Amino acid sequence: MVVIGGGIAGLCAAIAARRLGASVLLTESAPMALRGGNARHARNFRIAHDAPLWHTPGAYPAAEFSAELAKISGDRPEETLAGALIEESAQVASWLMGCGVRLQAPDRGVLPYSRRTAFLLGGGKAMINALYATAARIGVAIAYDSEVLALTPTRDGGWEAEIATGGATRRLNARAVVLASGGPGADPAWRRAHFGGNADDILIRGSSYSNGRLMQRLVESGAQTVGDPSSCHMVAVDARGPAVDGGIVTRITAIPQGLVVDRHAGTVEIAGAAPGKSHYAQWGPRIAQCDGGLAFLILDADGVSRSLPTALAPIAAPTLETLADALALDGAALASSVAAFNQGARAIVRPPFSAFPMRAGLTFVHFGLAVDADMRVAENLFAAGMIATPNFFTRFYLAGLGLTLSAVTGRRAGEAAARALA
Ligand SMILES: Cc1cc2nc3c(=O)[nH]c(=O)nc-3n(C[C@H](O)[C@H](O)[C@H](O)COP(=O)(O)OP(=O)(O)OC[C@H]3O[C@@H](n4cnc5c(N)ncnc54)[C@H](O)[C@@H]3O)c2cc1C
Repeated sequence: MVVIGGGIAGLCAAIAARRLGASVLLTESAPMALRGGNARHARNFRIAHDAPLWHTPGAYPAAEFSAELAKISGDRPEETLAGALIEESAQVASWLMGCGVRLQAPDRGVLPYSRRTAFLLGGGKAMINALYATAARIGVAIAYDSEVLALTPTRDGGWEAEIATGGATRRLNARAVVLASGGPGADPAWRRAHFGGNADDILIRGSSYSNGRLMQRLVESGAQTVGDPSSCHMVAVDARGPAVDGGIVTRITAIPQGLVVDRHAGTVEIAGAAPGKSHYAQWGPRIAQCDGGLAFLILDADGVSRSLPTALAPIAAPTLETLADALALDGAALASSVAAFNQGARAIVRPPFSAFPMRAGLTFVHFGLAVDADMRVAENLFAAGMIATPNFFTRFYLAGLGLTLSAVTGRRAGEAAARALA
């Protein structure tokens, strides 16, 4: 069996299948140092539980999880696979711990905690390292720098995988395949085709290798899709951050503490925004609509002191005029936007003045391959993780859902693929 993609979904699939006796090769496009896909940047996952657990306090009943998912996505859970996801989320923590993953106790360490999510000790990268170690220990073969370019059905019901490693290409026949190659967001051509005007100004928060090209080839050969290719999760990120793999540290969290302006120094707002609220997932798309996909968060000294620390220091200046110069903004226009802002509850008055240049940072796209309850795309071809997300929810997002969905579906797909071999 071949598992395509060594992110959390692929790792869970490979481990689950190997435990059922399958002979498994996991292929990963990235080199070993960049293995793990987007889970390298993640920190917590959402779990249903009826009583306090040593790693997750309080209770978060499945019914509450279901109601919250239905509310944000607008979906009817009975029309998606969300019910299964929520039910199986209750086992994710113990399953991952059984693979060597360590969690954080809520009363220790530096991360925040909630009754809805379990936090990874050492973050997503520590989880990924533990899953790779477990996979290798139980006999999963792992090929890094190995991108699957194409999948072709064979006459005996299996699949031929065309795998590129370095300059060489080889063909390998598998009796079953799990496709866990992530969503399509990191492909610039995809973004240009589906996101419109400022697509090239969007930064990618995760792995550049999760580019959806293999998924696209399968779609061209007739695989059914689900979701909306132009719908995605984006947040405001520091425009000075890297084009890919910015992770969570470049996210701008201080927007409620100041004023957002565009490159013409005009005020940028979210319609109906509640004062003081972060509205993370709305700011990304809003900034993407600005001229050049660029906006600036303007703060005074009080705003900075109310903000969390940032990876990159803000651009600071003693006066609003000099700040406007440093940002190449029209000084009179900025003064006018700040004066209007100062009529509200919070004012930008105390020097020094600071700014964060911001762009939209893409987390994932709500588009993928249609699957059945066994995660089957076609005979002996299964999909897991972000590539299958819209079978579970079609819009918006809840914190910690991505890892849970990827772990649950990875395990499901791996077990279903192993059963198909029997
Ligand atoms: C910055 C950031 C922070 C996040 N934080 C959280 C969080 O705290 N909690 C949470 O629940 N979720 C979080 N998420 C979402 C979560 O990381 C993802 O939902 C999850 O990691 C998806 O896993 P996956 O295995 O399906 O896909 P991916 O992580 O995209 O992995 C796909 C893998 O497939 C490989 N690949 C792609 N194409 C091929 C090919 N053709 N051949 C071989 N290999 C291929 C890629 O290199 C990659 O390793 C975050 C995402 C980002 C970007």
